[in-house]
Amino acid sequence: MQTHSSTAAVRAGINSDRHHGAVVPPLHLSANFAFEGFNKPRTYDYTRSGNPTRSHLADAIAELENGVSAVVTSTGMSAIALVLHLLRPGDTVLAAHDCYGGTQRLLRALAERGHFTLEFTDLTTSAGLDEIARCRPRMVWAESPSNPLLRITDIAAVASVAHAVGATVVVDNTFLSPSLQQPLALGADLVVHSTTKYINGHSDVVGGAVVSADAAIGDELKWWSNALGVTGAPFDSYLTLRGLRTLHVRIKQHVENGEAVVASLRSHPMVAKLYYPGLATHIGHDIARRQQSGFGAMVSFEIAGGVAEVERFTSRLELFTLAESLGGVESLVAHPATMTHASMTSEARAAAGITESLVRLSVGIEAADDLIADLNQALDGAAVTRFQVALGGHSSGRAERSAIPGNECASVILLGAGAIGRELIAQISSCSGGQSLRICGVVDRSGYVFDADGIPAITLAAICAHKENGRGLADFDIGIAAPPEESVDWLTSQSLTAAILVDVTAAETAPLLETALSRGFDLVLANKVPLAGDQSVVDGVFVAAAVGGRRILSEATVGAGLPVIDTIRKLTESGDEVLAIEGCPSGTLGYLLGEVGRGVSFSRALRAAVAAGYTEPDPRVDLSGLDVARKALILARLIGYRGDLGDVQVDSLVPSALRGVPLAEFVARLADQDDEWVARVHGAQDRGEVLRYRARVTPTGITVGLVAVSAADPLASLTGTDNQFSITTRRYQQPLVITGPGAGAPVTAAGVFNDLLRLVAERQSGVSV
Ligand code: PLP
Repeated sequence: MQTHSSTAAVRAGINSDRHHGAVVPPLHLSANFAFEGFNKPRTYDYTRSGNPTRSHLADAIAELENGVSAVVTSTGMSAIALVLHLLRPGDTVLAAHDCYGGTQRLLRALAERGHFTLEFTDLTTSAGLDEIARCRPRMVWAESPSNPLLRITDIAAVASVAHAVGATVVVDNTFLSPSLQQPLALGADLVVHSTTKYINGHSDVVGGAVVSADAAIGDELKWWSNALGVTGAPFDSYLTLRGLRTLHVRIKQHVENGEAVVASLRSHPMVAKLYYPGLATHIGHDIARRQQSGFGAMVSFEIAGGVAEVERFTSRLELFTLAESLGGVESLVAHPATMTHASMTSEARAAAGITESLVRLSVGIEAADDLIADLNQALDGAAVTRFQVALGGHSSGRAERSAIPGNECASVILLGAGAIGRELIAQISSCSGGQSLRICGVVDRSGYVFDADGIPAITLAAICAHKENGRGLADFDIGIAAPPEESVDWLTSQSLTAAILVDVTAAETAPLLETALSRGFDLVLANKVPLAGDQSVVDGVFVAAAVGGRRILSEATVGAGLPVIDTIRKLTESGDEVLAIEGCPSGTLGYLLGEVGRGVSFSRALRAAVAAGYTEPDPRVDLSGLDVARKALILARLIGYRGDLGDVQVDSLVPSALRGVPLAEFVARLADQDDEWVARVHGAQDRGEVLRYRARVTPTGITVGLVAVSAADPLASLTGTDNQFSITTRRYQQPLVITGPGAGAPVTAAGVFNDLLRLVAERQSGVSV
């Protein structure tokens, strides 16, 4: 009687016991079978060659796949190895470039030893079909859907082109099982299975099968299976047959759950890209609809973020086990880049589209609602945690921060998300050293964003975009509104390991810095204002650091990115005495004077500097000399100067007539000064001199202003936006000259990043670097 394949699966071997009428066929573990008499073997003589329990399974799988015969093997890989024994040296195998990794490994190893010639192609494209016609292989190896991106191969099209050139078509049908796809009916010659997966379905047996459409090839495979000894064990066959009986009902539930899970994942914001053949947008969806009777229960997706988010997601899952394999009744999750596809090079993975943020689900047959709830909670948890804590009330819970053990990840709170802050975020995000550094908080004037586990890269990028649009953190998606004092008060009382506050603002932040220091934070400063504040305030900050044994690094405050501060510290530590520092520490003013020296008008040069982003947000701050004065004061204090900013003699380049006028008017009216500048520059040139805006620093005084230096002076060689410092010490009477790039967010941010890395290195080595 013609029956449905589900009936065939359930009834495989039922009522076949002639001796006792056992309804379920008995398990024959015997390794050998007695001859009926001399030279009278029975159907089975030795279990490697044949076994009744294994035959029941083989017959059932052959029937479900519409084949004439099947060989049951010990594993999926032995089924694949068995098929490859049909080949001879000189034959070509053309395999799908994204076939199972174990298949690829075996194909490559055998091809290397000369068993056959091997080529890979993308069988999902028409170019792949052309490749079959071009290379005229003996065997085409396909797999549909593929692992893990579930790409679909048009099996009938492949078979038709392959048969035209005399090739045998093999399809690995593991991902769907015969319940959803029958490749032989689509024109394939052989079907391979890892029965470990859906066919057994309970993750308690490893096994394989090869089904043949042709009796002669089927016989050849049987011969080889005995010769090689790769046939499946009777007990495994028994269990697999028991699993096979429920294949159709399991698959029905798998598919229903898979579709429900996909529907839910589609709308989750943490799902960046979804791969499932049932999606109308999935490439190959139409082919899948045609050649499959269901879309399966394998689902892959890219999580928004990277490996950190994947780790958080997988560790939060309760109903999906992090494990290799698939097709069991229980749901599994895998991270192909570190698990199933770890043996591929990262380049090969990238070429195959397997990113670090890709996860693969084998959706089981638990209640779909439970699976969806579990995925949602894990995805929600993988995203940035939303802290809705009332500010101010939590500052009493001081975190104890003592010595930082070993290679603990440093937690950074970033004060300021302007051009430098955003650039710093970009530099940290794109640096692989990010493992030892995470940004847990970002604060601006309006509020903050916080995640104790580190703000994911995708959120940091969104914060930067939000800030770039001129908006405050208070109205960022997960921002909390608070004034900076409250933000810093709350953030610094959270329990963070190896905590560092990075100040990239241009505001008076000394009280905030003291708060952070008192709570065990180290400081990295690009902000000149607090370090150039009144001596008593600066003393307060350094005393707070000394009391708590904390560090303050400020390389990016002076001559951004230059090791000026570092050099001065080293000279002083080595017992030398710095007598004087002369320098041009303003890239903006260096650039302006250089341009004017080349004949560009002053007003035009200033507009170009603003357009290029060299100036402080307000160019008047540069022209006033205040910025240079602050840098000079920071340097002076390092060599023992005890005065304040008010004591610095500053020669402002802002004309007295333009003081206090609005910025637009200021820029427009600056042209009035152009002739005067031409006269000044020419006057200096006539005397063999060049104009420089210079700071001169000694332990007893600071002067800042425009000077004409001789063409032989080191400062005269300065070009572009470079900064330059000449340091005269007792040992270096011939000054030590340091020149390097100055203006611009990338260089300043790099100085901050350098200090951050230094702190991390210090902690990991336990030694101050
Ligand atoms: N084919 C596919 C598509 C697979 O996913 C696997 C295993 O993951 C195999 C073949 C190999 O099967 P086994 O692990 O049973 O040897």
